[in-house]
Amino acid sequence: MSGGLDSQLAIRILERAGAYVEAVCFSTPFFDITGAKKAASALGVKLHIIDFLDDELKLIANPPHGFGGAMNPCIDCHAKMIERAGELMAEFGYDFVATGEVQGQRPMSQNRQSMGIVEKCSQMKGRLVRPLSAKLLEPTIPELEGKLDREKLYDISGRGRERQIALAAEFGIVDYPSPAGGCKLTEAGFCRKLKDLKDHEGLADRQLIEFLTVGRRFRLADGSSLILGRDQRENEKLLSSGLLTLRSEKGVGPTAAIPKLCSEADLAFARRIVDAYIKGTTESDRTFCKSYQIC
Ligand code: SF4
Repeated sequence: MSGGLDSQLAIRILERAGAYVEAVCFSTPFFDITGAKKAASALGVKLHIIDFLDDELKLIANPPHGFGGAMNPCIDCHAKMIERAGELMAEFGYDFVATGEVQGQRPMSQNRQSMGIVEKCSQMKGRLVRPLSAKLLEPTIPELEGKLDREKLYDISGRGRERQIALAAEFGIVDYPSPAGGCKLTEAGFCRKLKDLKDHEGLADRQLIEFLTVGRRFRLADGSSLILGRDQRENEKLLSSGLLTLRSEKGVGPTAAIPKLCSEADLAFARRIVDAYIKGTTESDRTFCKSYQIC
């Protein structure tokens, strides 16, 4: 359950076809699950939230089926999410896992071939239902066993949204985001920062990954990175981060954080950058940091 229209429709279609449904969403700093929580609440279904960051990082390091346009390992990511949902299915004794995938909707991850790969790699063969496109695909085990009425499933394909929008009206679904994006791994600008982190500090530290969405970033000459708050909320977040922070004595201007200080020269340059963002202050207002350690 992403919270998008297709995943909401998948739930309502399954319910109409005779299933009891619970939703699963996957939490990482790359995808905001607020929409999934809102949609699950509006649909009245229980939502399981799975921490997916470790899985995603392994796929970013080594995606067996490659990346999409940026650092988005969509085929393997789909397969892994479905595999994890399959673990819940087994744990709770349910019959199948379903997704809101639509055949032909996305060039990389939702064409007939990649949907077959996802089914195979997720180890859910026969127990993965795509209610929106089910009639274009082989009948699944729950359909063959009569637990799901195939006649009430759909044959939607392609990138058009007309049928989904008509179905949303039929089901009374009014609140859904536009279909584009949502995942930061598809955004070139974010992925530049992610690659920079991977190349310098590595991807083992969750806090540094979460902080990729905070502040302006600078890579200094000796290798330190500098994160500069853009507003009060970001400044406060950096101040309470536990990282080495720099700010003016009087608290004016931005707060900066340095996750890993590489040299005195980087620290001196970091101070100059922070000072450059402080307008109309005297020398006594300028940047200081209480204590620091060069690693
Ligand atoms: S868009 Fe992001 S969350 Fe969705 S499958 Fe691709 S990598 Fe995974």
